[in-house]
Amino acid sequence: MKVIIVGGVAGGASCAARLRRLDEKAEILVVERGPYVSYANCGLPYHIGGVIEKESSLLVSSEAMFRAMFAIDVRTGCEAIKISPDKKTVELRNVATGEVTTESYDKLVLSPGAVTVRPPLPGIDLPGIFQVRTVPDARAIREWLERGSLFLAGMHIYSGFQTVRPKTRAVVIGGGFIGLETAENLVHREFDVTLVEMLDQVLAPLDREMARVVEGYVERHGLRLALNDGVSGFRQAANGSLEVQTKSGKVYPADIVILSLGVRPDTALAKAAGLEIGERGGIRVDDQMRTSNPDIFAVGDAIEVRDFVTGQWSLIALAGPANRQGRIAADVIAGRDSRFRGTQGTSIIGLFGAAAAWTGASEKTLNRIGNKDFEKIYIYPNSHAGYYPGARPIAMKVLFRKSDGRLLGAQALGEDNVDKRISALAVAIQMGATIYDLEEAELCYSPQFGSAKDPVNFAGMVAAGVLRGDMPISHWDSAGKGFLLDVREPVELAVEQAPGAVNIPLGQLRARLGELPRDREIHVICRSGGRAYYATRMLLQNGFKARTLSGGMLSRFHALLLEN
Ligand SMILES: Cc1cc2nc3c(=O)[nH]c(=O)nc-3n(C[C@H](O)[C@H](O)[C@H](O)COP(=O)(O)OP(=O)(O)OC[C@H]3O[C@@H](n4cnc5c(N)ncnc54)[C@H](O)[C@@H]3O)c2cc1C
Repeated sequence: MKVIIVGGVAGGASCAARLRRLDEKAEILVVERGPYVSYANCGLPYHIGGVIEKESSLLVSSEAMFRAMFAIDVRTGCEAIKISPDKKTVELRNVATGEVTTESYDKLVLSPGAVTVRPPLPGIDLPGIFQVRTVPDARAIREWLERGSLFLAGMHIYSGFQTVRPKTRAVVIGGGFIGLETAENLVHREFDVTLVEMLDQVLAPLDREMARVVEGYVERHGLRLALNDGVSGFRQAANGSLEVQTKSGKVYPADIVILSLGVRPDTALAKAAGLEIGERGGIRVDDQMRTSNPDIFAVGDAIEVRDFVTGQWSLIALAGPANRQGRIAADVIAGRDSRFRGTQGTSIIGLFGAAAAWTGASEKTLNRIGNKDFEKIYIYPNSHAGYYPGARPIAMKVLFRKSDGRLLGAQALGEDNVDKRISALAVAIQMGATIYDLEEAELCYSPQFGSAKDPVNFAGMVAAGVLRGDMPISHWDSAGKGFLLDVREPVELAVEQAPGAVNIPLGQLRARLGELPRDREIHVICRSGGRAYYATRMLLQNGFKARTLSGGMLSRFHALLLEN
């Protein structure tokens, strides 16, 4: 059996290696247009920032290693230019010489990845404007930064009276994870960095109020954000520097511009071969990664996949799914019955020592698809036992089905161990777990690692309390209609007040129940929700209509950020 794999990075390389493990006799040919196979594109922003100093650290594997260890014929600088499904052949072009050859296949796997979105804006091809996709891209950026732009080089030459070299100004366009990671790395290099984003938030998969917290955090660490503004063009100024022009009429001077406007599936070959393309613009495959042609498989950024939670077709450009899909395609080609379960878009980004992570459906996705059968909670547990040094709060939003408690999605932000909570919740979602299962999850605990009630358990307990009716909740957008009761201590009010709230500290509440209305719904707040829960239980058992305001004053911060 001869298998040709187009694309030799995440999906393609993992498919090739898995296939060899399953079939010692298969003839495997991997063709890769670029100069490297199986390299760590996820590390590129950190190479630009100097965290990963050596380019060679990104080159995880090589043609020679594939040949020696796996007997796989890997050809870099070799582009697949045409598939003839009826003849079962692929035309290959040597990128350096232009020579075209034809290879036949029994099975073909497409893992061509995605193409970077590059709109035809005026000046987009000016020197100094880069993208971050490949090792050569990162090399070009580093060379540019080391050499300095025309403007900076000029300042250097004519700076007889100047002792301080001006700061390099970088403009990053696009607030997705590659844009943000690159921007963070440029801030680390002590550049003056502005990130321009057309949407009204960074990290589009996050709900807006959670993204606001990320935005505040990165701004406090020196990254300037210009949201709600699209780029309209680029110009070279008289002094040699660049100018980024935006639709709102602003002009940002720059010594370097990084384009990070997102990606779209690379479907050129597939389209030309007549393979079915799905509604989201990716190659349509079944759960065994088979395209509309049974001898052609496709994996990775180029395909569209079913969202595990919503059941909708979606485009997910992530390394984990690409690797798993490559493995499944290999299994199926080797005669195994593996199937892809769908994706949840589980992601994480590290920014200035903190992390934002998410999995499953967001509130805005559920609203967009008209799903009303959900509730959300906001909690702020410590990353580990509060009495052990170094505990940091984690801001968590958890979404679950009202009708049966099934976990739908989670988002978390914090400076410590955010990843393990979202990873645990991601597994729970994939296993179809409910919030009641989270209550019972048995997780690692000692004081430096977690709490006896881990944030994952805590999320389950709070959410289950809501669904069992033990703790009816409300959110800030509806709280204004009821009677607002603040059960914090007076000293806390000196720091932060809830306008319109009546303050009765929790310790005095039992004695002062007579001051509360029986004909109105009482929304109870404290700092994060814990004391409000006790108060709510007390009020409910005394015949009041009461609700805990989810997340208390901490989630009000989100709401306020939205208002502004
Ligand atoms: C800067 C950066 C940071 C990232 N960080 C993360 C991260 O932190 N976490 C995460 O989960 N994901 C991350 N990703 C995304 C992740 O790298 C991709 O989702 C994953 O690599 C997709 O795998 P793939 O096999 O579909 O495509 P790729 O890995 O992109 O490989 C496709 C390859 O196919 C080659 N090719 C295309 N067409 C042809 C052709 N006709 N002939 C021959 N070769 C061809 C291309 O040259 C390319 O090398 C990042 C991506 C980038 C660019």
